[in-house]
Amino acid sequence: MTGSLAGKVALITGASSGIGEAAAMALAGLGAEVAISARRGDRLEALAAQIEASGGKALALAGDVTDEAFATSIVEDTASHFGRLDILVNSAGAIQEGYVAGGDLEEWRRTIDVNLMASLYTSRAAMVPMLAQGSGDIVNISSTAGRRATALFGPYSTSKFGLTAMTEGLRQEAGAQGIRVCLLEPGATDTELWTGITNPDLRDSVKQLAQSDRSMTPQDVAAAIAFVVTLPPNVNVSEMLIRPTTDVAPL
Ligand code: NDP
Repeated sequence: MTGSLAGKVALITGASSGIGEAAAMALAGLGAEVAISARRGDRLEALAAQIEASGGKALALAGDVTDEAFATSIVEDTASHFGRLDILVNSAGAIQEGYVAGGDLEEWRRTIDVNLMASLYTSRAAMVPMLAQGSGDIVNISSTAGRRATALFGPYSTSKFGLTAMTEGLRQEAGAQGIRVCLLEPGATDTELWTGITNPDLRDSVKQLAQSDRSMTPQDVAAAIAFVVTLPPNVNVSEMLIRPTTDVAPL
């Protein structure tokens, strides 16, 4: 395939829906060979078939990225299947409400595990092929909730603030070795993220926002990911805050 990412290999987590799925399509459309991961294997197989039907190459790797062994294996499998790893997009994520007082600690752990620890597992594993190559891109999908903490979404904000720290630390650690690290912070985007919210009233209000004209499409965010990873290698967008134009809330 031709395109600005021809010859490059990307691994995208959270690729069974939303931003991860759109990112896989966008990067494959630019010529990258893509490995796609999430728990819903049927969705991954359908996406892989769609990418292959358009002349691309795709590898579906189904499983739970909060399992450290699985998260490490998808990086290794991508590099061994395609022969290298150039781009890692950590888009697997979940949102959950939760307060500190009386908070459900299992919900806190689950949210932090998928939004923070899973990205640590895959980033850690990706360092092996990327350091050997002397190049690579890691894009971690945070959120405006990683800029502005709210009591209501305690576990979510906490996980995203942690992701900011991990991402910036990795940028300082790996930049001199030619590895670019980007923290991408989207505002409201029309995806399935709201489906995981337990409280029905809150779920409904987040759904309404996601499906209103005050949100972006997953393709909008995927275009930002594609922009970041196609810049000249000496340029690292280390942080990108991208919001619907109509979101005028101060951070
Ligand atoms: P989606 O719910 O559409 O996508 C989330 C993806 O993560 C799915 O592919 C899901 O697949 C995967 N996933 C969730 N848990 C696990 C797990 N344990 N193991 C493996 N994969 C998992 O939502 P978005 O696309 O919106 O979310 C992507 C990222 O964008 C998240 O980090 C989210 O926080 C962030 N974000 C989203 C915003 C929005 O408004 N939508 C705004 C700001 C940030 P499966 O269920 O098949 O495993």
